[in-house]
Amino acid sequence: MPELPEIQAHAERLDASFASTALERFTPIAFTALKTATPGPDAAYGKELVFVGRRGKHLLLDFGEVTFVVHLMQGGRLKPDEKQSAKPRFGQARWRFADGRALLLTEAGTERKAGVWVVAGDPEEQAPLLGLGPEADTIDKSSLRQLLQDHPMRLHGFLRDQHIIAGMGRLLANEVCHRARLSPFANTAKLDSDDATQLTEAIHVCINEGLAFERGLDAMSSSADRPAHVHNRIGEPCPECGDTVRSVEYTRYTVAYCATCQTGGKVLADNTTSKFLK
Ligand SMILES: [Zn+2]
Repeated sequence: MPELPEIQAHAERLDASFASTALERFTPIAFTALKTATPGPDAAYGKELVFVGRRGKHLLLDFGEVTFVVHLMQGGRLKPDEKQSAKPRFGQARWRFADGRALLLTEAGTERKAGVWVVAGDPEEQAPLLGLGPEADTIDKSSLRQLLQDHPMRLHGFLRDQHIIAGMGRLLANEVCHRARLSPFANTAKLDSDDATQLTEAIHVCINEGLAFERGLDAMSSSADRPAHVHNRIGEPCPECGDTVRSVEYTRYTVAYCATCQTGGKVLADNTTSKFLK
């Protein structure tokens, strides 16, 4: 799933290309794409795109009176629509602009979770942004320490919870834990001030690395290409210490970690056995 760096760089790309262009029409192609009834997307017709921004893992297309909030979820993409065909492959929704160009929201796979919300007024006060935590890229140590204490849980789950901190997903959770040399299963309430310092720095470094990579591309990267030390590197040597990157597998995601760097050599096993461990 695209996370903060991918969404941020993509927002910048779309902003550079489409800002100040008036919207002609919005067409939901799949009936599940548009998640809101009022206001209607026609409230933005004839209005110029003020900017494309980001909040958490959402893209914001701000037309002044109304904002389109787009969540790409796992397989969604929002790209310039060169062909503008009647039935585009994986097509979910299309924004057609007055200059003849268009943006197409696609979603590969069968989950059909990507979506568009049209909101009037402050998008922060309404679904799907209402209740999101502070942005991961700007969080400071004291705020993070408070959040850690307020939400006693496993660190990996904490980092992925958008209502606690917004913008990180599976890749960044794995990378941040590794960079901070903390166990993904560490209890957040037990982390001390030094841990919070390492964690804050790790969050910022990992996000900045992702941003630097992503800003160098013409289009959003795929997960396998993103810079990572442990994510998608299971079975490979840890770039820090040479130990084998291990995993704990869950139905919907994989926790990747280095035992030497993060758990004092302890191999984690949680309701499952890693296929890479004998
Ligand atoms: Zn290591």
